[in-house]
Amino acid sequence: MPTVLLPDGTSVPALGQGTWHMGESAARAASEEAVLRDGIARGLSLIDTAEMYADGGAERVVGAAVKGQRERVFLVSKIMPQNASAAGVARHCEASLKRLGTDYLDLYLLHWPGSYPLEQTIAAFERLREAGKIRHWGVSNFDLADMEEVFAMPHGTNCATNQVLYHPDERGIEFDLLPWSRDKKLPVMAYSPLGQAGRLLRSPALKAVAQRHGATPAQIAIAWSLRDGNTISIPKSADPAHLRENAQAASIRLSEADLAEIDRTHRPPARKTSLAML
Ligand code: NDP
Repeated sequence: MPTVLLPDGTSVPALGQGTWHMGESAARAASEEAVLRDGIARGLSLIDTAEMYADGGAERVVGAAVKGQRERVFLVSKIMPQNASAAGVARHCEASLKRLGTDYLDLYLLHWPGSYPLEQTIAAFERLREAGKIRHWGVSNFDLADMEEVFAMPHGTNCATNQVLYHPDERGIEFDLLPWSRDKKLPVMAYSPLGQAGRLLRSPALKAVAQRHGATPAQIAIAWSLRDGNTISIPKSADPAHLRENAQAASIRLSEADLAEIDRTHRPPARKTSLAML
């Protein structure tokens, strides 16, 4: 499994597993847990979840999946901005830890910019880190100006990543946020790398490249998201066959010709656009 370095030198798997829409149905929980476990066994041992997903239900499924193998997993969860006050961060982190059945998170993210002054949230993240409740903290859905603000704050350069929407039809970050992040040695975490299995997977360009590699368009979308060695990609699958397919995508290397073909249909940005998010 290729790895990506966080700014403090921690090595994490470049390809992980998303969990949005998991934990929504008790009837599906056992199979979702089994897929997550299979993913961990295949090296997709970075798991992204959030207190928001199924109102804590996704964290419970993840907790069941990591039981007995916590140390093998790089566990990421997120706090909603309306909860990210000084006291709220401590309380909500504790609730996430309880649902996840663990006493620490590897990475805790502010889900999107929001309600409380950022200094307050960052100071609270730092306290959690000192207390050993979290190993790293970061942000999500932050555009360049937001990131510059973070980096100008006390302890702001301890930010470990920014999780943003990124796939061939949503390339806006390549104009400024991605180069800035690269310059700061800050990996980006690409969410919805499969475009949520919508129009993107029907792309003729992805299909053509997939055919050359004996792969699927989903695998090409994942390989594309990993191509710069500084991006962590977190496709979600609750389907055993899709999971196996996604895991294999980590070994696909796209050629210059493949990338040029994708660029012709899915154009890189020519100007600044505000950050797209779901
Ligand atoms: P993805 O782009 O990962 O797409 C998920 C969809 O693709 C599911 O319907 C899944 O279905 C399907 N799929 C998975 N693998 C394949 C495959 N090989 N072939 C065909 N279809 C496939 O979308 P998400 O929005 O879920 O993003 C991934 C993760 O990123 C989330 O789960 C979440 O953890 C995170 N996220 C973070 C956000 C943020 O604001 N920070 C916002 C959105 C997502 P199936 O399960 O049946 O395989």
